[in-house]
Amino acid sequence: MTGDLWRRGIGCQTLLEMLTFEEARGKIIEQLGKRKGPFATAVVSVWEALGLVLAEEVKTDREYPPFDRSTRDGYAVRAKEVAPDAKLKCVGEIKAGDTVTEPLAAGTCVQIMTGAAIPRGADAVVMIEHTQREGEVVRFERAAQPGQNIVPRGSEAAAGQTLLRPGMRLGYAELALAAQVGAAELQCARKPRVAILSTGDEVVPVEVAPGAFQIRNSNSVSLAAQVRIAGGEPVALGNAADRVEELGEKIERGLKEDVLVLSGGVSMGKYDLVEKVLKAMGAEFYFDAVAIRPGKPAVFGMCQGKPVFGLPGNPVSTMVTFELFVPPAIDLLNGAEARPLPLVEARLGEALSEKLGLAHFLPARVEWRGGAPEVKALKWQGSGDIAALAKANCFLVVPADRDKIAAGERVSVLLRKDVV
Ligand code: AMP
Ligand code: MG
Repeated sequence: MTGDLWRRGIGCQTLLEMLTFEEARGKIIEQLGKRKGPFATAVVSVWEALGLVLAEEVKTDREYPPFDRSTRDGYAVRAKEVAPDAKLKCVGEIKAGDTVTEPLAAGTCVQIMTGAAIPRGADAVVMIEHTQREGEVVRFERAAQPGQNIVPRGSEAAAGQTLLRPGMRLGYAELALAAQVGAAELQCARKPRVAILSTGDEVVPVEVAPGAFQIRNSNSVSLAAQVRIAGGEPVALGNAADRVEELGEKIERGLKEDVLVLSGGVSMGKYDLVEKVLKAMGAEFYFDAVAIRPGKPAVFGMCQGKPVFGLPGNPVSTMVTFELFVPPAIDLLNGAEARPLPLVEARLGEALSEKLGLAHFLPARVEWRGGAPEVKALKWQGSGDIAALAKANCFLVVPADRDKIAAGERVSVLLRKDVV
């Protein structure tokens, strides 16, 4: 980077239309959704794959269940032989895991356990609770229906059937399914590497004692945590001073990763240089203002083929704007679909009023009260107040076109995925 290039870039401020947060998310999804794999993959043990995105098909190795399976502890019978008060001789017992070859003789029953194989000839299982046993004889209290308490062989899945597909996120149920069919190792997308660069002359590393007018770099810590939760691999690049050359060098380093997230330096101040430096490096911006508070100056662009997010530096702004905008990029670069925002509806517990024109994201707590979710905004001192957010389990979303909302009205709540 030459000083010349900087001088040419500096000064050409972009002025894009202010978007709603939904529109802004749409721009990100539009840009990154164009990228179709193949994405880099790695083979991962089923024990280690939680939260990764699958990059292969997982198929059944046999039928599921592999045999007609009892879903109850009871007696395997021929249904037509079991009317109220019927009595049958019990000729044996079948436990889960037993090899079953003998057919059930007419006029008899066999004691059977949950998960055991049904013997040929039997077509129903009567729950033990509906029987009485006297020696070898079992008395049945009610009639049996053919098929009751039996999951037929192959009814859950056929042999060779695809159960999991590329792009699916591996949660605990998906991992259990892979384990069930013997997929001990899984081809997964390599997590996108997300470079994190904070900016600001006042910012010192967390490990360093700040001077009277300095602050510790908490944003890099929250951003690294948010990247992990979103399914990315954080690469912390420290802090850049508010100087064109240093910012340029560190941004260049960040552009070696899959995504670059910056904090600070995107407002209108004289030393807010992030957008200008990115522009000089060839960035194209898709938004540089969003109708939200906190977080209005958030920026998204593509620079040298890499997605770049410039998030405002006030800690709560950084956290809110990350949650709104960065996860869809990480999803798409994982080869998955962009997940929707974790929004739910709740009853407003206390009336509130906010300024019109911007959607507000207020630190809040949602609790289950009287059989329904109720949400209350917490007291806070604005977008520097990390302590208020640490008490919150969600953000209460006040739409841009609402200034007053009465207690009892339905409102949207953006859940904090890490604590709920
Ligand atoms: P900026 O968006 O650069 O104008 O930053 C706004 C405010 O956010 C600064 O005045 C700091 O108080 C705070 N801030 C900026 N960067 C960080 C950081 N890395 N960690 C914690 N707070 C920060
Ligand atoms: Mg700054």
